[in-house]
Amino acid sequence: MRIPSQTRKSLSTRRLGCAVKAGWRLEVRYFQKPIFVHNTQSHLVSTDGYQAKMTSQAVDGLRTDHPDDLWLCTSLPITPAGSKPADFPDCWAECFVSARAKRAVLNTPGFPEPLPRPTSPDCFRLEESPGRGICMFATRDIRWGDLVLAERPLIVTPRAWRPTGPIPKQFTPKQRQQALNMQIEKLLEFLMTRLPEESQAAFKALSNCHKEDGSGPLGGIVRTNVFRIDDYYESQSPGEPDDARFYGGTFKILSRVNHSCSTNADRSWDSPTFSLQLRAARDIKKGEEITLSYIDGLLKPASDRQRRLRSYGFQCTCQACVNAKSSDARRKKILQYLETKPNGSKVFDLILEGKKLMDEEGLQSYVAYSEMLSRLVALTRGRATVKPDEGEKEWKMLETFRLVRRGGRNAETRPRADNDAKLQMVQQMIAALAVGQEPLD
Ligand SMILES: [Zn+2]
Repeated sequence: MRIPSQTRKSLSTRRLGCAVKAGWRLEVRYFQKPIFVHNTQSHLVSTDGYQAKMTSQAVDGLRTDHPDDLWLCTSLPITPAGSKPADFPDCWAECFVSARAKRAVLNTPGFPEPLPRPTSPDCFRLEESPGRGICMFATRDIRWGDLVLAERPLIVTPRAWRPTGPIPKQFTPKQRQQALNMQIEKLLEFLMTRLPEESQAAFKALSNCHKEDGSGPLGGIVRTNVFRIDDYYESQSPGEPDDARFYGGTFKILSRVNHSCSTNADRSWDSPTFSLQLRAARDIKKGEEITLSYIDGLLKPASDRQRRLRSYGFQCTCQACVNAKSSDARRKKILQYLETKPNGSKVFDLILEGKKLMDEEGLQSYVAYSEMLSRLVALTRGRATVKPDEGEKEWKMLETFRLVRRGGRNAETRPRADNDAKLQMVQQMIAALAVGQEPLD
């Protein structure tokens, strides 16, 4: 049992009228509506001696019949009290989730499956690099599509945080934000007590670029290192950003992967294993740093990307940012290809040129790359005379792209639905391209 004795004493199971099954982890639940806080700029303000307090109750960790909107601190996969990482090599995550989300996780077919192993064992190492902190480097050549790592989060938290206790009504919005930050910190301190000591140490060793904005030490680490998990979400309140619906995971290793605007890897969440999976988004050479993108909109100019990366507390020094003039020009051209949707007799060559530019810019993990591939496949199949292997290369590339973006699981378990969708997409493209278009051959 990881709940400290002092906390445990205050958790009355009798009040709940239910027995806690001996030997299993307790959950702690909350009752109020979430408030969005992640990515909100906040500043340290005085809160007139306000102290964050948690009001909570312990319930049986095996129960799944709570009302949807109750919020729980729970372990997923559910693990017996006192579990150590040695007992569960795939580990588990300490989660602050709604009862609805917990049920969604537990009802996932196959959950919790063991983590898949990397395509090549020991294909990376973590190493300090001057000015870049800890980086992930390839220790061997990794092929496009290969699994580099599958990892369960240390903790799972909502993008939309909720008050876990009262906040004085007379507080200004900034004071409210600060009080909420203090409550988040309190909650994260509690989640930490449920983690094994080695996992706590790994979490606290992660970088924190939110030391000056009123975030607590643990809240700052979450804000710096969290990756969004798309598979579980809450209803969206009016005025809340779309992002607020989702959950986020903070990871021991994956949170160490640095950003690049020409990323060579991509991530996808896999629900049955409850893990984030990192795959090569193009061929990676031995010794190369493995990178991910922290932001969308990679085709925008370097200055715009740098502005959006400011909240992560670093200046991007990837090749695209260092050679911003030439890179911006190429990215602008790619954007034009995508926006104008080239047509006519030279369409195939124009799209091929667009794809080549994306290869040069290292944008093979970008969603627009699959659009280029899809259009090449559609065009090839729409030709009057098709050679036997024509379009096959692009088709295979498209398959690999989807493997990287969606993960191997989805490619394996939903092949029929995927194939139907692909077929429909290609047919639609052929139809669209055929309108007012000169013959391709
Ligand atoms: Zn960059």
